[in-house]
Amino acid sequence: ATIGAGSRIGAPAFVGMNVHAPPTPSPARLWRPRRVLVTPAALDHAHGRAMAGRLEALGLPVERLRSNRLTGLRPEDPRRAYVEAKNTLALVVAPPTRLKLQPIPPSADWRVDLAEGCPAHCQYCYLAGSLAGPPVTRVYANLGEILATLRSYAGSGRITSAQEERAHEGTTFECSCYTDPLGIEHLTGSLSEAIRFFGAWEAPVQLRFTTKFAAVEPLLGLPHGRNTRIRFSVNARAAARYEGGTAPLAARFAAMRAVALAGYPVGLTVAPILPVEDWRQAYDALIAEAAAALDGVPDLDLTAELITHRFTPGSKTVLEGWYPGSGLAMREDERARKFTKFGSVKYVLPKDLMSEMRRHITGRLAARLPAARL
Ligand code: SF4
Repeated sequence: ATIGAGSRIGAPAFVGMNVHAPPTPSPARLWRPRRVLVTPAALDHAHGRAMAGRLEALGLPVERLRSNRLTGLRPEDPRRAYVEAKNTLALVVAPPTRLKLQPIPPSADWRVDLAEGCPAHCQYCYLAGSLAGPPVTRVYANLGEILATLRSYAGSGRITSAQEERAHEGTTFECSCYTDPLGIEHLTGSLSEAIRFFGAWEAPVQLRFTTKFAAVEPLLGLPHGRNTRIRFSVNARAAARYEGGTAPLAARFAAMRAVALAGYPVGLTVAPILPVEDWRQAYDALIAEAAAALDGVPDLDLTAELITHRFTPGSKTVLEGWYPGSGLAMREDERARKFTKFGSVKYVLPKDLMSEMRRHITGRLAARLPAARL
């Protein structure tokens, strides 16, 4: 059996809950991990203790470990290892390497990690090629230390002309490179804390994240100071079957409207763009839906990112192991071979198709959502 959209085997536990955002056509789903591991070091931090208390109050099975090492997470059977890891949340302390930020042009100046891993089951998840080991969701307890580190990075990090074009946004910090921070926010509170921190920061700075979830209610009343941009990762309807465990597309659009009405700068992350059947119409319909969701929002500050699908030999191997039988096409002979900036190989859409998709989708964006800065 495959584990992904439409499959119940090994799927993580989610509970339905209404998002009180107008309109809410379908419920957002909140993850309930089946196993919660708390390291002793995590409890040395106020945020770690607060998270442990929150998880216990939610009635989750919290195991307080004796050691700071997470062991026993690799059963022999790789399918079981995947299922168990995807159902496990661990409270840990971010290693020192995580406190030294990496520049990540062009999407932001710096990457900051509040957690690593995600409970959803997207068959094109980029984490498959980025993170090693079983896909446990690890949340960092030393949040105060992580946020304090950011101060020394303000005013630095701009490298590319794309970043220069966005200089008015200040120094940008991206916190969704290795996780979906909204998908675990009801369990951690870390994202709210980070939004408050940026809201009180007087220098020109911006926190950014993208999400395939929709439970934005805890964020609506926060003093964000318009210093956080919330982007929603969306795709053509035909791609929904590849996004197991995420919030339905309509719920993401309702959430986008709710946060835009709450004054947040927002964004559309159209990703990963795929040549699905009748893709011109499919992506036009998606953009029309986004435009309807944002209709009439005052002081709208909107960006759009268009990211085409790609895979690497490494991510393909991991994803085929996680989702055997997936219908997602990852054939090298249908792709163009390119090199990443680190010299490794990636497979992207063929040049002509890429150009045609770019031309069409940017054209539809300009027509339907002229407020969006690409
Ligand atoms: Fe990966 Fe994002 Fe899907 Fe989570 S929501 S599995 S991070 S693609």
